[in-house]
Amino acid sequence: MDLSGKTAVITGSNSGIGLGIAWGLARAGADVVLNSFTDRDEDHALAEEIAKETGVKARYLRADMSKADECRQLIKDAKVCDILVNNAGIQHVAPIPDFPMDKWDAIIAINLNSAFHTSAIALPMMRAAGWGRVINISSAHGLTASPFKSAYVAAKHGIVGLTKVTALETAKEPITCNAICPGYVLTDIVEKQVPDTMKEYDMTRDEVIKNVMLERQPSKEFATVEQLGSTATFLCSDAAAQITGT
Ligand code: NAD
Repeated sequence: MDLSGKTAVITGSNSGIGLGIAWGLARAGADVVLNSFTDRDEDHALAEEIAKETGVKARYLRADMSKADECRQLIKDAKVCDILVNNAGIQHVAPIPDFPMDKWDAIIAINLNSAFHTSAIALPMMRAAGWGRVINISSAHGLTASPFKSAYVAAKHGIVGLTKVTALETAKEPITCNAICPGYVLTDIVEKQVPDTMKEYDMTRDEVIKNVMLERQPSKEFATVEQLGSTATFLCSDAAAQITGT
C-alpha cells in the first residue's frame, strides 16, 4: 500500500488509537499531522519519532477539539488534508440523573461536533485535490448501548449518522467516508473508566475487565492499536475506493 504524496490529519493522536493510526499511515508513506489539546515537548517528540522511523514528514499541531474554531483552524493550519481521521474522544461513566452537564457537553463537543467542524473545512480541500478519505472513529457503542454511557453512546451513534451523510454528499467523487467501530482496545480512555466502572458495579479491576468490558466482546481479547492502524490504512487504499458510508 503506497500513500506517499498524501497528507493525513489525525485528531487526538498523541496516544492510543490515533497514534496507532498515525504510525500505520506513516508506514504506508503518508505525511502525518498529529494533534491534541496540549503543547508539550513530548507531543512534538512523537512526530519527530515518526518522521525519523518512517521517513515521512510529521508535524504536531495543538488544537482543542472541544472548540469549534480550533477544530476548523487545525485543518487550515495543516494546509493539506487528503486523509482526515476524526479520532479525538473522551469518556465519562455515570447514570443519567447524575451525569454532570459539563461532561455531557464536552463529550458531545469532542466526540461528535469536532468531526463536523473538521470535515467542513477538509471536504473542499479534498475536492480541490481530486481525492480524499474521511475516517471517523466511532465505536461498538456507535451500534449498540451500555448503561451509564449516555453521552458517549449518543455521540458515537451520531458519528455513524454523520459518516453516512458525508458518504452520500461525496458519493459521486473520489472521496470516501467510513466509520471504524472498534470493540475494546486497552488504551488510556479504557484505563480511565476502570475505577468508575468498579464503583458502579462494585467489582474488582479484573472482574470489570472480564465481566463488563470483554463480556460482550466475542473474542474475549482487546483489539490493538496496530490493528486499527492497518484498518485505517486499508480504507485509504485503492482496494477500498468503493467502500463508503459503512
Ligand atoms: P486515548 O485516551 O488514548 O485517546 C484519546 C485522544 O483524544 C488522546 O490523544 C487525547 O489527547 C485526545 N483528546 C482528548 N480530548 C481532546 C481535545 N479536547 N482536543 C484534542 N484532542 C483531545 O483513547 P483511545 O482509546 O485511543 O481513543 C481514541 C478514539 O477511539 C476515541 O474517539 C474513542 O472513543 C475511540 N474508541 C476507543 C475504544 C477503546 O476501547 N479504546 C473503543 C472504541 C472507540
